[in-house]
Amino acid sequence: MKPFDAQRRLSRIEAVLPELRQRLDPCCLCPRCCSAHRLGGELGECGLDGVLRVASVARHLGEEPPISGETGAINVFFSGCNLHCLHCQNWPISQLHVGKQLTPEELAGRILKKWRKGAHTLGWVTPTPQIVGALEAYRLCLNEGLDLPLVHNNGGYEDPEIVDLLAGIVDIWLPDVKTSDSAWGRKVQQADDYPEYNRKAVAGMVRLVESGNAQSVIVRRLLLPGRLEDSRQTLEWLWGSFGNQIQLSLMCQYFPTYQTENDFDLGRKLSEEEYNTIIEYAQDLGFERGWVQNFEEENGLPLHCL
Ligand code: SF4
Ligand code: SF4
Repeated sequence: MKPFDAQRRLSRIEAVLPELRQRLDPCCLCPRCCSAHRLGGELGECGLDGVLRVASVARHLGEEPPISGETGAINVFFSGCNLHCLHCQNWPISQLHVGKQLTPEELAGRILKKWRKGAHTLGWVTPTPQIVGALEAYRLCLNEGLDLPLVHNNGGYEDPEIVDLLAGIVDIWLPDVKTSDSAWGRKVQQADDYPEYNRKAVAGMVRLVESGNAQSVIVRRLLLPGRLEDSRQTLEWLWGSFGNQIQLSLMCQYFPTYQTENDFDLGRKLSEEEYNTIIEYAQDLGFERGWVQNFEEENGLPLHCL
């Protein structure tokens, strides 16, 4: 791993902030490119205007080992999301935008307070619609000496141009790979172009690792009940495109919530048999780098190597 170079990051942030600010209003920060005048108070399809809004800044010990380490990830949960997953387990934050308005200085202060007690990484959760405020806060943290690897935890619905702009700033890319089926993307994420953008975005993240502009890509696949064929197709694409360049995190912690409690397809938990079928499929394809969860545990933790 390269030594932490705060000056290089600060230069990169200075270089990309003007373009990101320009893309904030009219907004084209994500594939929806909905052109909302966010700085004038208009809400985008993600439900956000131009004000930085954060639900929580909390230490998390249950992420994948390179993220949590021994001391945990400082996770910043940004309010809002550019997807609208029917089964979102964080729906009050992502869909109702629960959170508090903060200035970049206030967000930096909260992060630094946690960092001074020790941490392994800084994790941004669904940062894309608020990337400008996130970078402004990160810049302040770097100037105070923060030296944690930065994790970009996203739903995988990203514009590859924005991914490129974050070269040399994000260390660990942590995208979801939710579906290979555009009809399912339309029904569940309200984004029928999800597979198209997801694939381009993950490919862009892997390219950043290849060019030395990021450390790793950990792809998360939350397995859904009854969606075995979609999982197989998705794993085949990942394996065929990237092999063991990526690390794969197969998650079993799905439970019906938000708009899926009475849903015909999604109104039940994943079975252990379904989970084991997909783990074996991944292993048969050749995946060797990654993690699976403990099916017996309520939240799927702890993780074991694939
Ligand atoms: S980030 Fe939000 S406002 Fe911007 S394009 Fe995406 S959905 Fe629209
Ligand atoms: S991408 Fe994640 S946070 Fe956003 S709506 Fe989907 S499950 Fe929720």
